[in-house]
Amino acid sequence: MTARVGVDVGGTTLRVRRFPGGPADRLEVPTAAAGGPSLADRIAAAIEALPAGPEPEMVGVGIPGLVDPAAGTVRHAVNLGIDGTPFPLASVLAGRLGVPVVIENDVRTAALGAYHHITRERPAISDIVYVGLGTGISAGVVMGGRLHRGRHGIAGEIGHAPLGDTATPCRCGLVGCLEAVAGGRALDELLPGGAISLFTDPEAAPVRDRAVAAIARALYVLAAAYDPDVLVLGGGIAKDATPAVRRALLDMAASSPLGGEVVSVERVITLPPEADVGTTGAALLEPPSATAEGRQGGNP
Ligand SMILES: [Zn+2]
Repeated sequence: MTARVGVDVGGTTLRVRRFPGGPADRLEVPTAAAGGPSLADRIAAAIEALPAGPEPEMVGVGIPGLVDPAAGTVRHAVNLGIDGTPFPLASVLAGRLGVPVVIENDVRTAALGAYHHITRERPAISDIVYVGLGTGISAGVVMGGRLHRGRHGIAGEIGHAPLGDTATPCRCGLVGCLEAVAGGRALDELLPGGAISLFTDPEAAPVRDRAVAAIARALYVLAAAYDPDVLVLGGGIAKDATPAVRRALLDMAASSPLGGEVVSVERVITLPPEADVGTTGAALLEPPSATAEGRQGGNP
């Protein structure tokens, strides 16, 4: 079996894992990146720090920001110090590591990992939507077992859809965006205890209710648009948010039989942290096209 390495780049933590592998074949280090070159250094060093093992045939990287998998570039990864200029992460890493590198947006990567995890127990499932509740909010869509990016790479980019209340201005210039009421950055600004206190601080109730309602609306829209087998909630607040979101969906179903059918609560699930969707999905990434880039050393 050929080996692959999956890399999950978070704002604070960088996770690296070799597949197939055991507990020793994974590593977690602080991301601590200030710009593209320093991030590439951090990733390469983490991979090189894995214990000796089979040479990987490819390295997959899930990273926040606007990713162009075909070009192998990332931009606007604000927390990593990468601005609007595309940084060629895939080619820089490939040059350093001597293996092909594929990159993809982190939420899409997690969607692929979630799909892999779910279908191990439920092989009949073919379509899932993974909603990443993080600093921002977006969804990764897997249809027919493959990542669905859309014609312009926009599929699942629901963060700035006007699903919140209409009075809240968003950093993007619109008002009432999903991210403006339920995104981690907005919640950090809205709550004295930060986003993490959303489900623990009684004072946070009004903010919480609004965030939960917006997330429930987002699930409705995603379910109506993609009609997946399941909707997976992921990200920092997913575990705490899920019961509340399910209640909101049940309320919706109580007043609308149609609503209850579009997004039934049984289809809204979370995955345990052990599912490790970030690195798993990264290792499953496919090269954007089967044409060029395939370097010598691997079997065609
Ligand atoms: Zn917005």
